[in-house]
Amino acid sequence: MKHQVLILSAMLMIIASSCNRTNPLLTEWDTPYGIPPFDEIQPEDYIPAIKEGIAQQEAEIKAITSNSAKPTFENTVAPLELSGKLLAKVCGVLYNITETDRTDELDKVMEEAIPLLTAHENNILFNKVLFARIEKIYNSDQSKLTREQQMVLKKKYDSFRRNGIALPSAMQDQLREINTEIASITQKIGNNILSESNAFKETFGISVSDYPNAMTTTEDRDLREKMLKAYTNRGHNGNEYDNRELILKVLNLRLTKAQMLGYPNYAAYELEPKMAHDTETVDNFLSGIMQSAVKKAQEEVADMQKIMDEDVANGKLPVGSKIEPWDWWYYAEKVRKQKYDLDESLTKPYFKLENVVAGIFSAAKTLYGVNMEKLDGVPAYNKDEVTTYKVTADDGSLLGIFTTDYLPRDSKRGGAWMNNIRDQYVDAEGNMVRPIIVNVGNLEEYLTIDEVQTVFHEFGHALHGLLTQCNYSSVSGTSVTRDFVEVFSQFNENWAFQPELLKQYATNDKGEVIPEDLVEKINNSLKFNQGFMTTELCAASILDMKWHELEDFTGIDIDEFEKQVCDDMGLNKEIGPRYRTTYFNHIFSSGYCAGYYGYLWAEVLDKDAFSVFEASGNVWNPDLAKKFKETFLEKGGGEEAMVLYKEFAGREPDNTAFLRGRGLIE
Ligand SMILES: [Zn+2]
Repeated sequence: MKHQVLILSAMLMIIASSCNRTNPLLTEWDTPYGIPPFDEIQPEDYIPAIKEGIAQQEAEIKAITSNSAKPTFENTVAPLELSGKLLAKVCGVLYNITETDRTDELDKVMEEAIPLLTAHENNILFNKVLFARIEKIYNSDQSKLTREQQMVLKKKYDSFRRNGIALPSAMQDQLREINTEIASITQKIGNNILSESNAFKETFGISVSDYPNAMTTTEDRDLREKMLKAYTNRGHNGNEYDNRELILKVLNLRLTKAQMLGYPNYAAYELEPKMAHDTETVDNFLSGIMQSAVKKAQEEVADMQKIMDEDVANGKLPVGSKIEPWDWWYYAEKVRKQKYDLDESLTKPYFKLENVVAGIFSAAKTLYGVNMEKLDGVPAYNKDEVTTYKVTADDGSLLGIFTTDYLPRDSKRGGAWMNNIRDQYVDAEGNMVRPIIVNVGNLEEYLTIDEVQTVFHEFGHALHGLLTQCNYSSVSGTSVTRDFVEVFSQFNENWAFQPELLKQYATNDKGEVIPEDLVEKINNSLKFNQGFMTTELCAASILDMKWHELEDFTGIDIDEFEKQVCDDMGLNKEIGPRYRTTYFNHIFSSGYCAGYYGYLWAEVLDKDAFSVFEASGNVWNPDLAKKFKETFLEKGGGEEAMVLYKEFAGREPDNTAFLRGRGLIE
């Protein structure tokens, strides 16, 4: 026996020495600020590191569950919170790189990694001994815990409970089956939408993302009608990609799952941990917006009808022509030219990317005392295209590391986003760990108005990630509910076109500052067509809620149900929901079910918070900015969102500023 062991260890030594290279993911990183040594990491390093990370966390959890002492926050929740750090370190790098610099090799790594990680997560969430300890702490006197610790405890307790830990094992098995089935059907729905969108592209020669643009510029009215019908019938053509049956199946499975876990319907299950909390609150919230939006949209139709009437008088259209759904974008653009006369080819030269970046930094310095210092020679995941900054507070203390990666490349996913490579927390030895945050985009050298807002938006998320001062990573930074997280990105957009800031950053190549009349036109145009935009967004949010509030699907027909919901909400006949049921990707194949309202919810909060600054007579009010930073940006999810909001505003949020900002009321 002893002999065998000796042989084995000799073999291990040979293997180790023959590949004379250690996996950098498994070493301590002796780099500036602990930035991952990106250029040393190879694709083949990830899976062994993930396996090692899983094994380490399993051992850490074993140590917690085999502790014979009475369960306490310190001997259970705190070590659970600190467990899995190697896994977090590895996934922080991997998740970032697969989105920004995707390769076939990395795809294969992900294919292998996801099932490993999912199984590991399930093993934790179905660990009854671990839950029993957490439950005991949760049901004991919590008054000795800090507020942040109470929030961490609640979050952990809820994630076990909502995953079905308290159910008998037979029901747990059923639940796992339901989860798997939902995952596979929603993937099929997503693929069908993709196939139908590709068919749309083949027919009309434009991608679905260019649809609004094509509807704006296509003069041929019959073609517009055809495009609208093809676009809105995706997943509804009676072919192999028809989603109707699949959608009813998913809705039914979600309902079963919610009811097994003790909720009346799936919306109630989804909303429980969110800021909005219950279906009644969301329903009232949406119908309050809908009324003003529909009214404004009626005025917009009247404006468009006037221009259409001129086309009738000029003999371009038959007598009696009325605005139809396929006319909206086309005539809205004519109104926009007439009313706002904003030509983006005139504004673009003032919005050079590097100047806009200087603008976001300058606003953050003024508001929150944030200092950015470019770092050269530090590790970077894409040396040619990313820029890294050291971020410090005015007292010189380190806030974190911020990396920008704004330019497009083939290996990068579309869109723009913020990501944490490392979270902020306090480690087991009591040392503060500061975050590493990335902003990624697909931008050109000169930006449109929309893109300027995007840069401010993503930097708003970054500030939420960088300024955080928490103890536990599960509540630090942007680890807040989905209907709360967008408040801080959208809030930061409010500064983009403030005249004082534009004077600093919006200059053209000759160094001339953007003229005042252009600034005025930009600010006016932001209110343009908002009746329509709000109506279609709100209609889709209501449709999402109504589907997930249903408690019986017997005899439900998708078309009839959808029509009834639209009639009930008083939707204008010229407008449809932004997404109809059969191609509503957000709610049937990504995580926004009973959550699409979150976009509007967050915007109401951000506009309301901004109105507090406006009411003070100074949008740069330093006392308010300090209060905003300390109440929201430093606290993350360390307190309930509504409690924080009331602490900041001194009252509950109100939708007046949102409605006024979108020009829906005077
Ligand atoms: Zn966002």
